[in-house]
Amino acid sequence: MMSPPILLVADKNKQIYDLPGFLACGQAGPQISVLSPKQLIPLPKDSNLFFLPNRYPVGFNIQKNTYEPMANCSPVAAFIPPGYTQTLTAAYAEAKDAELLPLFSYAPVAYYKGAFYIPAIRIDQRKNHDLSSLDKKMLCKKIQVFEGTKNRLITHLAGCAQVNSCPNAINFFLGKYEAPLPVSPSCNARCLGCISAQPKGSCPATQPRITFVPTPEEIAEVALTHINRVSRSIVSFGQGCEGEPLLNAAIIKKAINIIRKETSRGTIHMNTNAGRTKDVEALCKAGLNSMRVSLNSVRPDLYHSYYSPRDYTFSDVIASIVTAKQHKKFIALNYLVMPGLTDTKEEFQKLVKFIHKTRVDMIQWRNLNYDPQRYLKKMDQNNKSPLLGIKTIIQLLQKQFPKLRHGYFNIPQ
Ligand code: SF4
Repeated sequence: MMSPPILLVADKNKQIYDLPGFLACGQAGPQISVLSPKQLIPLPKDSNLFFLPNRYPVGFNIQKNTYEPMANCSPVAAFIPPGYTQTLTAAYAEAKDAELLPLFSYAPVAYYKGAFYIPAIRIDQRKNHDLSSLDKKMLCKKIQVFEGTKNRLITHLAGCAQVNSCPNAINFFLGKYEAPLPVSPSCNARCLGCISAQPKGSCPATQPRITFVPTPEEIAEVALTHINRVSRSIVSFGQGCEGEPLLNAAIIKKAINIIRKETSRGTIHMNTNAGRTKDVEALCKAGLNSMRVSLNSVRPDLYHSYYSPRDYTFSDVIASIVTAKQHKKFIALNYLVMPGLTDTKEEFQKLVKFIHKTRVDMIQWRNLNYDPQRYLKKMDQNNKSPLLGIKTIIQLLQKQFPKLRHGYFNIPQ
């Protein structure tokens, strides 16, 4: 008989081992459950395995028929690659001296059929950010082509590619998929999980923020270099290494004019918090093709708790999406997924209303890179709304909105 998914833990020497007699578990908010084989997929290559310090892994003790936190070992969690959406978080109990975990997502890992498995779904089959076969020497050669450039943005992207391994920056130099156009050192929000700026005493930001505002000419040079050599290309404002692009809408508008004077090819896209509706409308008129709007929830109170917007509110975000749809733009949601919040019945019912109201075209189901238990505490998520499960809500939406696309990466228009 096939043995069930078994708990994996790490010892103080960071050795990972399985604990026969203990079933592997996952968590969604306060709810801990035993992992069933039908929830599991093999651990994707390019995943990172972490042990979580000052935390006790929770397993299901088969003999005692009860959940049990384990002492003298640490939970094992996986940070999974782009394209996969986790459906549960690692099951653990915090020790008194536990600190905030760094900005990653933490999927539970089980030992099953002689290998490592996780509860997740492959939400996007495309390989836009798959760096597994990246030839670093070749990348260096491709970057050297731009040696001596006066374009500060190209120099910045070279750093993003070589130092921070940013997939979009690497794709720009390799001449494929989507190229980044970061333009903004500042932001009008203060997201809890901002990967480019974290407050003192919090966990480190994942990458440094751009320190200058490129000129429309510098932006257009990067964009046209990419569009002229990549079919079905995307060039996108609003990258991980910047604040909010809408704060530099005037510069973006000039850059779009230069690009569109040269070519009608390529998709000009923007990832944004969409807090400034007037600027969104101006860019739609200037030729922006598509937008991806970032949301941790469609409930205004939870949105404000996460984004701490400075000069806008959740209703401005909705107004921006409705305006962009009136201009027939393709709108995707950057839906920051956290099991235990995203899959509550309350959130799902609100999401259905939100989709009816805004007519968004796509949902990108992106794992929220933040300490799951601290996040849910901050979102005050101890409400009693039943959990439907991430996979279930996606299936329900597929039935209810057959034209709504689901994925992880932006789509060329
Ligand atoms: S909108 Fe983006 S840049 Fe601004 S705080 Fe949030 S994550 Fe950071």
